[in-house]
Amino acid sequence: MEFIPYARQTVDEDDIKAVVEVLRGVYLTTGPKIAEFEIELAKVCRQKHAVAVSNGTAALHAACYAAGIGECDEVIVSPMTFAASANCVLYCGGTPVFADILPDTYNIDPQDVRAKITPKTKAIIAVHFTGQPCDMYELRTIADEHRLVLIGDAAHALGAEFRGVPVAGLADMSTYSFHPVKHIAMGEGGAVVTDKDAFAEKLRLFRSHGITRDEIRLGTVHAHEPWWYEQLELGYNYRLTDIQAALGYSQLQKLDSFLKRRREIASFYDEAFGSLDGVKIPSQMPGCNSAWHLYVLQIDFQKFKTNRTDFFSRMRDRQIGLQVHYIPVYWHPYYQALGYKKGLCPIAEGIYENIVSLPMYPALSQDDLSRVVEAIKEILG
Ligand SMILES: *Cc1c(COP(=O)(O)O)cnc(C)c1O
Repeated sequence: MEFIPYARQTVDEDDIKAVVEVLRGVYLTTGPKIAEFEIELAKVCRQKHAVAVSNGTAALHAACYAAGIGECDEVIVSPMTFAASANCVLYCGGTPVFADILPDTYNIDPQDVRAKITPKTKAIIAVHFTGQPCDMYELRTIADEHRLVLIGDAAHALGAEFRGVPVAGLADMSTYSFHPVKHIAMGEGGAVVTDKDAFAEKLRLFRSHGITRDEIRLGTVHAHEPWWYEQLELGYNYRLTDIQAALGYSQLQKLDSFLKRRREIASFYDEAFGSLDGVKIPSQMPGCNSAWHLYVLQIDFQKFKTNRTDFFSRMRDRQIGLQVHYIPVYWHPYYQALGYKKGLCPIAEGIYENIVSLPMYPALSQDDLSRVVEAIKEILG
């Protein structure tokens, strides 16, 4: 019996060909493939600019930098996310402030966002958990009222829509990850998309040491010196390679079919577990078209006279991988040492106890899906 992981990439021969072509060419990094990928991604997200960077964490760091986050600034973020969504605030010297999540969608609760705003609040990072868009109209309203930058962590949400608009639509900047478990794979990769020229310019500087070769910015003094460039700000080397961008471009061509398959799988699981007592399928807000990065099931383990550890190991015996998304970020020892206390976001903490992420990726076959469903029903039965 083959092992079914909770997530994996789908890479075909044409993806491999695209990468090999780059390896035979002139540029391995920052060549024509970067721009090709950026133009394509911006189109998919219906945003003016896409700035490709080395991974999703770098994208979040760059977005916080472009938003001007610094010491004494507070940024409101969900605890139901990967640590990177909050770490990026710390990188900039700011303070992450956790707002609790909604009990149905597990996305950040706009009302709790309001409650957590102080004179120091500078931005909101809205994580579109599992691929379901946050309530962006409400968050946009709050951000505008308090002059906050609204950043979308869309690592789960490439292709997701809110009332027919790509999820990046109402954010000032949105970040993506192209880690192999996400919608398209690059090995490592990430990007920030934005409609705003000023943010895009900051992001481009930040990804390459803060250095510019732009003739307009450099002026005429050194115009006769072809080697001249200037470092204007303190940036990093967060560049993506052409090798990765070629893979990403090729993968992007398949996004629609990947999304279609993910949505089919979600419907299949919904059908299988929707009427099972003691199990809660993910609820979807009206108007949301999720990208289904994850399928998160809530299971009342007590009711089934078992616990999550036992459930995991019995699934493992059946060669099926699961995961839990996520341990509340501020539970990690690093955050505890910073002074964050358990109990801060009771809804997120309560939900954490009962969630499991089921296998979800386009290459799952109908046989695989049946195996997963039967295994779960057998264990809980
Ligand atoms: C994957 C992920 C990231 C980080 O992306 P990397 O490419 O792994 O650095 C950030 N936020 C969320 C919500 C993620 O799922």
